[in-house]
Amino acid sequence: MTSAAPRRTLLIRNAELIATLDDQRRELRHASLLVQDRQIVALGSAEDLRPWLPADGVDEEIDASDHIVIPGLVNTHHHMYQSLTRAIPAAQNAELFGWLRTLYPLWAGLTPEMVQVSTQVAMAELLLSGCTTSSDHLYLYPNGVKLDHSIEAAAEIGMRFHAARGSMSVGESAGGLPPDSLVEDEAAILADTQRLIETYHDAEPLAMLRVVAAPCSPFSVSRDLMRESARLARALGTRMHTHLAENDHDVAYSLAKFGMTPAQYAESLGWVGDDVWHAHCVKLDDAGIARFAATGTGVAHCPCSNMRLASGIAPVRRMLNAGVPVGLGVDGSASNDGAHMLGEARQALLLARVGRSLGPFGCDHGPAEMTARNVLEVATRGGAKVLGRNDIGHLSPGMAADFALFDLRTLGLAGGAVHDPLGALLMCAPASAAYTVVNGRVVVREGQLCTLDLGPLLACHNRLAQQLAYAAG
Ligand SMILES: [Zn+2]
Repeated sequence: MTSAAPRRTLLIRNAELIATLDDQRRELRHASLLVQDRQIVALGSAEDLRPWLPADGVDEEIDASDHIVIPGLVNTHHHMYQSLTRAIPAAQNAELFGWLRTLYPLWAGLTPEMVQVSTQVAMAELLLSGCTTSSDHLYLYPNGVKLDHSIEAAAEIGMRFHAARGSMSVGESAGGLPPDSLVEDEAAILADTQRLIETYHDAEPLAMLRVVAAPCSPFSVSRDLMRESARLARALGTRMHTHLAENDHDVAYSLAKFGMTPAQYAESLGWVGDDVWHAHCVKLDDAGIARFAATGTGVAHCPCSNMRLASGIAPVRRMLNAGVPVGLGVDGSASNDGAHMLGEARQALLLARVGRSLGPFGCDHGPAEMTARNVLEVATRGGAKVLGRNDIGHLSPGMAADFALFDLRTLGLAGGAVHDPLGALLMCAPASAAYTVVNGRVVVREGQLCTLDLGPLLACHNRLAQQLAYAAG
C-alpha cells in the first residue's frame, strides 16, 4: 500500500491587507492565506479558509495582523557581481560608456568566489526588500568564472532565479567597447550557453531555475552572435535577454555602425518576440514601441540606474499604453547603487511623473502618470510576464507561494499605512520585509535572512571587494 507524502502547510493569518494583484486586483482586508508545499491553495476570510485547513492543524502559522501581504516582487535585470564595485569614486560621475571603461579593468579581476559571494549579497538585499524572483545577467567570465557559480549561490540562499548567460565577443580592436582581454570566442560562448541550458533549465511550472541566452549589448557582441544566440534559445525553448537603447551614445553607435535604430537592429536579428526582453529602452522610439507592442517584446525598466548614469527617462507610460510588457529591474549594483526592489518601484513611480516626451501613445507626465497600484503591478505581474511566467506575480489559488509581508507599524510608514497601507508601502521610504516566502519556504523571518548567516557573508564580500580594487591598482 502506498500513500501520498503529507503536504506541508503554512498559514498567513489575519493580515491587515492582502494585495492579491489577481485578475480582479482584489485587496482583501483582514484576510488569511494558506500554502500547501510550494503553492497557494486558498486566500480570503477565516470563514473562506476553514474548509481548507487540515483537521490536525497547520505545520506553521505566521500572525500577519498589522502586516500587508504583497506578491513577491520580480526583478528583471541585474548584474549581481557589481555589488563588489559600488560607488567606486572614479566611476561615480560618468555616463554609460565612460562608466564601463572605468570599471572593465576592475571586473577583469573577478574570481569564482567573488561571483558566488556577491550573488548572495545581491540576493540577500533583494529578498529583504520583498523580491522573490530575480534574473541576473552575468557577461564576464575571467579567471575560471562560470554561470554555475551564480546558480549554486542562488540555490543556497533560496531565491527563484533566471540565470542569464551573458557574453561579450567584440573587443576594442574590433570596434567594440570592452578590452580585448575580456571578450570570449563566439563558438565557446554558444557551446557554454547550450551546456547551461541542457544542464539546468527547468521549463516546468514552479521552476526555481531557468537559463536565458543573453549576449551583452550592441557595442560588445557581433550580429552573428546575436542571431546564433536567438537560434539556440528558440531551439531549446528558453528566453533571450540583452541591453538596448540605453542612452544617446548607444543609439548613435547603432546608427553609425549598423545604420539602424536600436529597435530596427534588434528586429533585423530576430530579437523581437514574446520570448525576448530588453533592458533599459530609455531611447526606444515610437516605431520601436509599436513593434515591441505588436510582437510582445518585453522591457526591463531600470529607473535608478537610468538616473545614476544620466541616461534619461524611459517612456514607460507610453510603452504600457501601447501594450508593451514592462517589468522593473534594479540593474547592476555599480549603477544604482542599491538593490531594493520597493525602492526601485518608488523611483519608477516618481520618475514617470516627470517624464516629458510626447508621442502617439499618450501624454507622458503628470501626477497620475504612475500610481502606487500601477507601479506595484509593473513590479509583480509585469515582471512575471517579462520573464515568461504565469505561475508568479499575483496571489491566487494554484500560484506559486511567493509573497512578502511588511509590518505597518514601522517609523517609515507612520501616518501613512493608517490611510492606505498599499499606497504607503510604495510612496513612503522603502521598507524592509518582515517575512519573505519563496516557493512556500520562509526565507526571511522577522526581518532576518534565515538561509545564510549575513554577517560573515558581508565581511567576506567586503574583503573581496577591497581585494578586487587593490588588484586593479
Ligand atoms: Zn544592465
